[in-house]
Amino acid sequence: MSESSPILPASTDPKDFVIATLGSHSALQILKGAQDEGMRTLCICRKGAERPYKSYPVADEIITIDSWDKWDEKLEEELIRRNAIIIPHGSFIAYMGHDRVKKMKAMYYGTKEILEWESDRSKERIWMEKSGLKLPRVYAKPEDIDKSVIVKFHGAGGGFGYFVAKTPEQFYEVKNRKYPEQNDFAIQEYIVGVPLYIHYFYSPITGELEIMSFDKRYESNADSIGRIKAEDQLVAKIHTSYTIVGNIPVVVRESLLPEMFDMGDKVIKVSKEICGGKGLFGPFCLETIVTRKLEIFVFEISARIVAGTNPFIEGSPYTALKYDVPMSTGRRMARDIKEAIEKGRLEDILG
Ligand code: AMP
Ligand code: AMP
Repeated sequence: MSESSPILPASTDPKDFVIATLGSHSALQILKGAQDEGMRTLCICRKGAERPYKSYPVADEIITIDSWDKWDEKLEEELIRRNAIIIPHGSFIAYMGHDRVKKMKAMYYGTKEILEWESDRSKERIWMEKSGLKLPRVYAKPEDIDKSVIVKFHGAGGGFGYFVAKTPEQFYEVKNRKYPEQNDFAIQEYIVGVPLYIHYFYSPITGELEIMSFDKRYESNADSIGRIKAEDQLVAKIHTSYTIVGNIPVVVRESLLPEMFDMGDKVIKVSKEICGGKGLFGPFCLETIVTRKLEIFVFEISARIVAGTNPFIEGSPYTALKYDVPMSTGRRMARDIKEAIEKGRLEDILG
């Protein structure tokens, strides 16, 4: 358990608990999935963002706060009083920050230890290397750029602020014009291929790794730039950017599946070695680019539910093969939580 181990309720009745999350990202899916498993749900919304959580009846209760900064001890005490289990997602981590998440005393689904391995680029790279994954080359400094690279500023949210450059001069041209103040960035080899996000679920209760679904992203302007002629792109000086707008479902070539299962297994195994204890569990995603030679390059690990699972609220072609009910990643988490509560194994799924 982490530094802020919660006191766990002794109850083995899932009805004594409530599944809670922040209203954004994949909250609709998470809350619906919990309801489908017969659990109560709570959505914590920022003022002005409640509408979807009222319009779609997935939250049994809504707590509104003025801003994420207003997430305070009082709110946390309230969550503890209600036996709330918080499910983190991308926006949760982005708004709360790692330090606050680590200190949280309310019950938190997932490993907290893995957060530092995922958020620190060099640690994440060690994790991926040890797992034997194919990785894009990393450039130590802009002067080394000798082919197309993608530049990622630290904390760039949802792909906003990424750009592509081919030479050191091009790099400085964009950097000095658009991001003169920012010096915390990573430079990665640009892999030519199709982006593919692999959605995994590893259950500490069943000990099984599942592939739930796949998506590709709908990014602005990377996904629209091809709608105008190359010469018009040049005249308009359009730089490719990767702001996430939505997600599109994908079904992969079936012969790629064995390798993908294998990749997931290794990431889990190494996570246990590097952070000790439980390692990574629950939903996670390998963010990849697949080349024309069918090489799968991984550029990032996301150690929680990704929003690319949202098209599959009614289940995916893959979960349809395994479950006799529509199984989303949100529902899969709720099922694991429910089983853990019933078996008195709550500790195994909390961080
Ligand atoms: P939001 O709550 O939509 O402002 O998103 C906060 C953060 O969550 C973003 O900066 C992204 O990193 C991530 N995020 C939100 N929606 C998506 C999505 N559909 N796909 C991938 N990442 C997302
Ligand atoms: P991210 O926000 O890290 O998930 O990345 C946003 C987008 O940048 C991805 O969907 C890809 O289109 C693109 N991308 C990231 N890294 C690479 C890379 N090394 N090579 C090619 N494209 C990349």
